[in-house]
Amino acid sequence: MVLDSLGKSLRGVLQKIARGSVVDENLLNEVVRDIQRALLQADVNVQLTLDLTQRVRRRATEEKPPAGASLRDFLIRIIYEEIRGILGKDRKFEIKAKRILMAGLFGQGKTTTAGKLARYFQKHGVRVGLVAADVHRPAAIDQLEQLSKKVGCEFYANRSEPRAEVIVREALAKFPPHLAIIVDTAGRSGIDAELVEELKRVRAALEPEEVLLVLDAAMGQTAGRSADAFHKAVGLTGVIVTKLDGSAKGGGALSAVAASGAPIVFIGTGEHLDELETFEPTRFVSRLLGMGDIQTLLERFEELSNKEAAEQAAKNMMSGRFTLRDMRTQLDSLGQMGPVSKLVSMIPGIGAGKVDAKQLEDTQARLRRFRAIMDSMTGEELDNPHLLKAERIHRVARGSGQPTTEVRSLLKQYETTKKAAHGLASNRRLRRQMEKQFGLTGTPSD
Ligand code: GDP
Ligand code: MG
Repeated sequence: MVLDSLGKSLRGVLQKIARGSVVDENLLNEVVRDIQRALLQADVNVQLTLDLTQRVRRRATEEKPPAGASLRDFLIRIIYEEIRGILGKDRKFEIKAKRILMAGLFGQGKTTTAGKLARYFQKHGVRVGLVAADVHRPAAIDQLEQLSKKVGCEFYANRSEPRAEVIVREALAKFPPHLAIIVDTAGRSGIDAELVEELKRVRAALEPEEVLLVLDAAMGQTAGRSADAFHKAVGLTGVIVTKLDGSAKGGGALSAVAASGAPIVFIGTGEHLDELETFEPTRFVSRLLGMGDIQTLLERFEELSNKEAAEQAAKNMMSGRFTLRDMRTQLDSLGQMGPVSKLVSMIPGIGAGKVDAKQLEDTQARLRRFRAIMDSMTGEELDNPHLLKAERIHRVARGSGQPTTEVRSLLKQYETTKKAAHGLASNRRLRRQMEKQFGLTGTPSD
């Protein structure tokens, strides 16, 4: 696995937390020290490491875990989130017919990665045309031609044409339609004016949807500076970090590139054509920290915070401060509670009496429309539904793609629910039951 030793150390930290008898200052100190050591060994920048562990320490002492969660699990989640945070944003990379410009310095793995991408696209059912626009090295053109044969994709080169942008125009004219077009360009030993000018000319000819920078993980933290420089010069949509298989210090390259703001979209994990992986920080960190465990933990937190919101909504309901936001929370938690059939009959005004399959479907469709409408409201409106008069209703309708009648029907539903909630709150027996269920205290008795 990529970054194996970093993963091992971090999993060791989590185990220490899980096994520790108490979560106290001592354990926290130890954990912070272990994380620092693990990150620095993986070549993560010193300042970045210190900032991260400082945040872990501060959050662990100042933030309060959601009701029902242990301090132990909370600490594990904080560590997960902070490490996730230094790897940048998740960016979805769509596999479809599009034009891709590959950029990068000598020997970083550009040509190899162009071949890997071609195979990846073709495997996903998108035909590819590879274009050899590295005009400075005939060997690079042969290398790409070999790769295209292995992959079984289209290939274009013109060995007597010294202008890369002309080759690109020729390829665009010659290739059949609906190809993903991947252009391999020349590298330099450093990013200089000549390289930048050539890339700009190729970019103008290609009009690419993607400009991908290829960076060798062995560059470590300097990969971040390189990403910055290329981004300023030609504008990047993504970065591919290669040779992560050969580097114990890949953490430096990954975190430094992420800090430059350009999202990492793929990583190279070997010399073979298949050794390319999509890079999604969330999944990557889950795997690094021990996928299954982290995933269940995160889901539990999700449930707990949903429960917290639902409890708040119930409290608001009983105190008469029931807003559209509360109603949204309740509809959401209904959605999570599984078979709607059992539940619809509990929603006042929606599903009284028996429900058949057709009605059920209608109800679900209706809940989806309601959800879309509420998503088009401002926070202010959710908290103060009485603001929703004609003009705002029109805006919300337009925003959600629903007719105004549907918006009005939602508001009517809200009024009904609110009245029912009022009745509920004044029903002594029901009230006591809810108090017991949600552990409410301090609500005035009637
Ligand atoms: P370019 O000059 O940027 O086009 O780089 P090349 O594609 O020619 O690659 C340079 C060398 O790096 C070649 O020997 C490749 O086999 C090797 N290489 C590329 N990607 C990877 C990778 O992900 N892992 C490993 N181990 N080697 C790689
Ligand atoms: Mg090359």
